[in-house]
Amino acid sequence: MRIDVITIFPDYLTPLELSLLGRARERGLLEVRVHDLRDWTHDRHRTVDDTPYGGGAGMVMRPEPWGKALDDVLGSGPDGASPHLILPGPGGTPFTQARARELAHEDWLVFACGRYEGIDERVYEEYAERLPVSVLSLGDYVLNGGEVAVLAMTEAIGRLVPGVVGNAESLVEESHEDGLLEYPVYTKPALWRGREVPPVLLSGDHGKVAGWRQEKRLERTAARRPDLIEAYRRSQAEPPAGDA
Ligand code: SAM
Repeated sequence: MRIDVITIFPDYLTPLELSLLGRARERGLLEVRVHDLRDWTHDRHRTVDDTPYGGGAGMVMRPEPWGKALDDVLGSGPDGASPHLILPGPGGTPFTQARARELAHEDWLVFACGRYEGIDERVYEEYAERLPVSVLSLGDYVLNGGEVAVLAMTEAIGRLVPGVVGNAESLVEESHEDGLLEYPVYTKPALWRGREVPPVLLSGDHGKVAGWRQEKRLERTAARRPDLIEAYRRSQAEPPAGDA
């Protein structure tokens, strides 16, 4: 998968060189290119923002540098690759595990990191006419810029790209994969500060362990995410697609 990130703070993206994603880059599973938006400005101050039409506080990112940067980056892709442009934003649709799974199938993602009050809306309009464009929100809160959202999204997407996580089975039972949160996990020692590991996990009975884990997943999801447990119960009550 190829990932391009356009930002005014390229250094913010250096964690993409570390850990699992860094290794995936070394192994050629991911190709990440980070671009400085200011390279597409032509004035002495390398200006990327201006005051908002209609008045109000803050500054808005100008469309010209974004247009030039996106035209160049989108024109530089690998042969035959079709780009999907992602604009992180608190006004976007929620970025979820299901969305991460869908995006992990794409061959080329281009992220445009907004700052200030965001990017002039015409940039979205312009590119949405030419290619798939998604405005995605990390959550219902406001960050200073898109960089942290891109770090979170590329990590969630990148670990689902085949081969990035060594043991693919470890991805299957994780939180949000089937609508429930994961069960609690334990490792050695079996007794720590007087706290025991639940005895069923030491029993060697795989059926009992699986039953206990499912019970804990339901309990934990009901306690922490009542919204998820309701959706999960509804999905379990529905007949499978095609059985209507
Ligand atoms: N004025 C905008 C609004 O109220 O919707 C917020 C702009 S925010 C200060 C600047 C940039 O941070 C956004 O353009 C976006 O790139 C990023 N951002 C902020 N919150 C985000 C979130 N929850 N998810 C994804 N990106 C976010």
